[in-house]
Amino acid sequence: MKVCKFGGTSLATAKTLELVKDIILSDPERKFVVVSAPGKRFKDDEKVTDLLYRAFDEKVMTGTCKSTMKLIRKRYIEIRDDLKIDFDIEKYLDEVQEGINKSEDADFAASRGEYLSGLLIAAYLGYDFIDAAEIIKFKIDGSYDSEITEDLVAKALKNKEGVVIPGFYGRKPNGKIKTFTRGGSDFTGAIIAGAMKVSIYENWTDVNGVAITDPRIVKNPCFIDVISYEELRELSYMGASVLHPDSVFPVQSANIPINIKNTFEPENPGTLIKNKISREDMQEYPVTGIAGRKSNATINIKKAMMNNELGFARRVLSVLERCGISVEHIPTGIDTMSIVLSEKGFEIVPEKKVIEDIKIAVNPDCIDVAHNLALIAIVGHGMARRKGTAARVFTALAKADVNVRMIDQGSSEINIIVGVEDSDFETSIRAIYDEFFGD
Ligand code: ASP
Repeated sequence: MKVCKFGGTSLATAKTLELVKDIILSDPERKFVVVSAPGKRFKDDEKVTDLLYRAFDEKVMTGTCKSTMKLIRKRYIEIRDDLKIDFDIEKYLDEVQEGINKSEDADFAASRGEYLSGLLIAAYLGYDFIDAAEIIKFKIDGSYDSEITEDLVAKALKNKEGVVIPGFYGRKPNGKIKTFTRGGSDFTGAIIAGAMKVSIYENWTDVNGVAITDPRIVKNPCFIDVISYEELRELSYMGASVLHPDSVFPVQSANIPINIKNTFEPENPGTLIKNKISREDMQEYPVTGIAGRKSNATINIKKAMMNNELGFARRVLSVLERCGISVEHIPTGIDTMSIVLSEKGFEIVPEKKVIEDIKIAVNPDCIDVAHNLALIAIVGHGMARRKGTAARVFTALAKADVNVRMIDQGSSEINIIVGVEDSDFETSIRAIYDEFFGD
């Protein structure tokens, strides 16, 4: 059994839906289909979910969502007509319009894109429709309730042959619809995959998988064939946007691989994400992916005999904890300690106050803050216990005339983090990519 989740671009028009149908029907294992709302049809088009949020805003301002709903109605009716199916989508559109006009928060409106999409696609495929509100549950505080949900999903989908489930939303105990954060249909797919213990979770999108690095920086980067959950987490944390961040856990803990595939090139194997990377999966390259983020700062602290002062690091870190600021890295020397943090930390508590508090806590000889640090993670299982990867990274950066301001390597040896000036960020990513993947 497989779960396949289709993203918005795969569901944007009748034409793309024809491709989706071919994909689903070409493999009898594809029994559970999770759908997003129709996405963009062209570059400046609007996603249905964005229109629905706008419909709610219109209702708040004018008392009715009528004029934005007109655009939404047009999209669904057009898809239905182009598919040439006999399905009364107007009835559901009327219900949705009425529901938004009565609703108190945006979640109900936002969720209707997936709801309508699910109904339409179930009719088109001849599959059953199961409303996510009946099986995906939230607690009253708005957090996702995994225990109840897993049970309900397993019961509802047992022995079912073909089911369409809308992604992105569920229901709270008070009956209200609640959505996940944006992109949350990935999470719904992962929940269904985990609860049904399927053999694979297929996540169908509009590219050939996870790119080795950001395509906005490196033109047409290659795609990753196989990546571990651990590597993916490192890359996502450093800014690579692949899947909704919550969607890894339900499948990783059930040891189910995710296959990211391209609806528009279904024969391409895409990227396989799994728990353990076997020797034969291990790529010929030591590096799997490269990601990074700009706008970090370092607090540099100097104090003679720091290494003899018991509890020094704890006192510094306690200050940051009290401020609610999280720490990225802590490179240390004998008498120096640096704290790397996102510049956003100083939006929580102003820089001046943080520095004053550290001064009070540890009485340093010298303390200053450096700004504009970009962090780049070079990630790969292949580099563990293999010589020369770090040398290649630093040679590539030196050749590109980039000064390295910070170096950190995790103990698992699957990543090397380098810190460079924000202004050197793109040059550095390109230099490292070319070193390992250039021709
Ligand atoms: N349609 C929602 C969004 O645009 C959820 C999703 O597609 O996953 O964020």
